[in-house]
Amino acid sequence: MLSLEPRIKNCFAKHITDSRGMATIEVEVVAKIGLDEVSAKAAVPSGKSTGSEEAVALRDADGGILQAIDSVEKKIAPKIAGMALDSEDIDHAILSLDTTRNKEHIGANAMLGVSMAVMRLEAKVKNIPLWKLISQKSGYPAGRPILYMNTLNGGAHADFCLPFQEYILAVGGKTLTESNEKAIAIFEKVRQKLAEKKMDYFMGDEGGFALRTSDLEEPFRILTDCIEKDPNIFIAIDAAASEFYRKENQKYELNGNLISRGDLLMLYKGLSEKYDLKSIEDPFYEKDLTGFEEITKWIGDSVLIVGDDLTVTNSIMIRKYGDRGLVNGMIVKPNQIGTMVETFGAIHDARKYGWKIIVSHRSGETMDPFVADLAVGVGAYGIKAGAHTQPERRAKYDRLLEIEKELVADAEQEQTKKKDRALERKNQPYY
Ligand code: PEP
Ligand code: MG
Repeated sequence: MLSLEPRIKNCFAKHITDSRGMATIEVEVVAKIGLDEVSAKAAVPSGKSTGSEEAVALRDADGGILQAIDSVEKKIAPKIAGMALDSEDIDHAILSLDTTRNKEHIGANAMLGVSMAVMRLEAKVKNIPLWKLISQKSGYPAGRPILYMNTLNGGAHADFCLPFQEYILAVGGKTLTESNEKAIAIFEKVRQKLAEKKMDYFMGDEGGFALRTSDLEEPFRILTDCIEKDPNIFIAIDAAASEFYRKENQKYELNGNLISRGDLLMLYKGLSEKYDLKSIEDPFYEKDLTGFEEITKWIGDSVLIVGDDLTVTNSIMIRKYGDRGLVNGMIVKPNQIGTMVETFGAIHDARKYGWKIIVSHRSGETMDPFVADLAVGVGAYGIKAGAHTQPERRAKYDRLLEIEKELVADAEQEQTKKKDRALERKNQPYY
């Protein structure tokens, strides 16, 4: 008899180009339901300021992506062909192919492309939005994240003109539509302010203004001038401090000056008192655990201290650092670890310590808006998605606007179901 249970038929991968013009992969997973075929695609981003413990993305010596394509088509596809379309089981099957610590055999890029495409396909077959499937699979209620819009770019994303990598406008609102509109309006104000000040800039990797200045307080002044009094708007930074730590001196290099951990800590404290700075990502080098511990102890009550290179979406690292209280927030980037099942595990472990979750894109992005569904589906505190000036970033914001409508429709449906159930109970006979 013909099975109507959806089963994986095959996986394909192809070369596409990311926002930096670098090669990456797009994966297509095909399933069979009876005589019919259904398929879904996913594309994999890549980082530039990466943590040393991130899972390895397979890349050829010339920057190409042929090895990753091979991995999808010759290693993963035969392993999962014939399996029932259950994203969790499929992720475990993929993981069983690679027993290395950092996934260097199969490659986290190959794994993640399949893992995301399978999840999208499962949602398609179940006829529910991707964020809803993610909410069901992860076990968290869906929610509306704060938009962490990287407005002024520095560090590795902007030729190190400014030492801190990201100066972010964090914008919340009652709806994602409202937050998005406010974020766009302030971004335009920043553009005007830069023109007024006759400041020279270029476009950074994440579409923000990359100022040609080394004055690390200037972006704080600009953002402060452009933000209207709104309790739902604040400033965040990603210092990405591993990029300006000098191992040879065990010091941090800011504008040509080498400063100690203690001085850097005082700098952050001063900035958080002077400006509306409420969230600091990677304030110290990923192995400067004392730095993380001290800053969280000192200002963690009023400022979110967020791990990224430190925690790399990896449950082993999270458990190691959670007990020491090194941070109170964590970036989630699925390609740091390789599969969605591990990503959910990392979120679960982080939340056990009470950490807030910020889902993030990568600096080298694709048009795939998956992280928008992920952020909503796990009820993340925030989403980092860059500036609206690049299509790869806009794809995430545009998806959030679609999700806003889906959330409203879903809530209405749930309400109707609840009323129907109550009516059914009322009309039930007593015997
Ligand atoms: C980050 O550091 O948070 C980031 C998004 O940059 P990249 O993707 O280069 O790691
Ligand atoms: Mg970061």
